[in-house]
Amino acid sequence: VDQASGEKLITELRRVVGDNHVLSESELRARYERDWTGRFVGQCQAVVRPANTDEVAQVVSILNNLGVAAVAQGGNTGLVGGGVPRGGEVVVTLERLTEIASLDKRSRQVTVGAGATLQSLQSHLQGSGLAFGVDHGARSAATIGGMVATNAGGIHALRYGTMRFAVAGLEAVFSDGTVMSRMSGLVKDNAGYDLPQMIVGSEGTLALVTKARLRLVKDLPERATALFAVDDTQSAVELLMLLRDEVPSLEAAEVFYKDGLELVSSYLGMHKPFAGDHPAYVLVECAASYDPTEELAQAADGANTRDVAVAVDAVRRNELWSYRESHTEAINAQGIPHKLDVSVAVSAMPEFEAQVRELIAEAAPQALCILFGHLGDGNYHVNILGLEPDDETVDRRVCELVAYCEGSISAEHGIGIAKRDLLSLTRTEQEIEAMRKIKAALDPNNILNPGVIF
Ligand SMILES: Cc1cc2nc3c(=O)[nH]c(=O)nc-3n(C[C@H](O)[C@H](O)[C@H](O)COP(=O)(O)OP(=O)(O)OC[C@H]3O[C@@H](n4cnc5c(N)ncnc54)[C@H](O)[C@@H]3O)c2cc1C
Repeated sequence: VDQASGEKLITELRRVVGDNHVLSESELRARYERDWTGRFVGQCQAVVRPANTDEVAQVVSILNNLGVAAVAQGGNTGLVGGGVPRGGEVVVTLERLTEIASLDKRSRQVTVGAGATLQSLQSHLQGSGLAFGVDHGARSAATIGGMVATNAGGIHALRYGTMRFAVAGLEAVFSDGTVMSRMSGLVKDNAGYDLPQMIVGSEGTLALVTKARLRLVKDLPERATALFAVDDTQSAVELLMLLRDEVPSLEAAEVFYKDGLELVSSYLGMHKPFAGDHPAYVLVECAASYDPTEELAQAADGANTRDVAVAVDAVRRNELWSYRESHTEAINAQGIPHKLDVSVAVSAMPEFEAQVRELIAEAAPQALCILFGHLGDGNYHVNILGLEPDDETVDRRVCELVAYCEGSISAEHGIGIAKRDLLSLTRTEQEIEAMRKIKAALDPNNILNPGVIF
């Protein structure tokens, strides 16, 4: 970028959002330039912080006219490098669009600014009798816009689905600065292509999400949480099948293993949940308007488990969850991991688990492989420590195995830049070509997150 056009850009952006909201100094930009894992780092020309939809539209229009690329950013908790610059872009952070409108109880919907965090939405709903069906471990920082853009899944997908199911409408800014506002939240609305749903999961490449109209679910105040120790993944899957059939209040079913529990317990300085060690663990949560403990206990009675720890109060429940939810942080504290977020059919999980461990042990004997994930969705997070950051050989082999098992190379984190060279393992040439045509039609100058997905 030559100095004159760089200065022109900054001046134009400042005119729209004010001097304080265009960050061009390197120390101010730094936190927006590095991703959560530390694996993806790049430099941008500036970070711009619009306050509302109109400012986002003006900012995008300026960037489009000057041919400067825009990287949308929410809470920067994404794990595939799609929300940080690669070099020379402008980061458009939606962090100031935090408004949450008052609750519409009759439609069971709420309109939320793209920059509101998941946790702030959860707090907003507290005591209302309604809740948001999508939840995950990065709730304190992940934004609704980022969750829409990645079609986030999380711990309740087995009951309520992913973000896609929760989106009843969207407001978004296209690459030429025009605003689409489809916020009526109608249950039935089949007038042409469903543009909001096309933007869900598009990772900032088709439009910038400014607001979302979200469907809510009934808040279920009575909970039962239990951690089961089991023999192996096969027993974990059998337990899941049993609970799915017999426990209507089942809301979450997560899996992790002995090595992950070891790491998390020492990272958190917590006692392990059982006196002895076990090969695999299944964390289960049920929620209902009645106390679901009895139905969970009855169903589990017939299951092949080695031990169980039950939470009787909120403190113990948080403790049991922290064994699972602290995996990501505990792994990151060991070094920069290669993270592969993949899914296979639930019934294929035992075979996939055995094969992926074997593959990694053979391809990178020095590496440490920690597996955990959302059992109910066939979703494994394969974390590999001890590989060179830029060496993709093992990643590719793991994804080839996923493709062989007829799974997906991205269950919930997206493709970003981390997996773009692997997309063809999971999508046909014709499908990728159709995606490229959609991208070219909606963003002809290729300014919205270029290099992400493709
Ligand atoms: C500890 C931890 C646990 C996690 N657990 C889960 C989990 O269980 N399930 C899950 O699905 N994910 C999980 N994630 C991943 C991550 O939190 C989600 O992908 C989240 O939805 C990203 O939101 P964000 O606001 O941080 O987005 P960012 O990281 O800022 O951005 C992610 C992508 O979305 C784009 N984007 C962001 N905002 C917008 C916008 N307003 N308009 C258009 N594009 C935008 C970015 O360009 C980028 O491509 C976890 C992450 C961590 C660190």
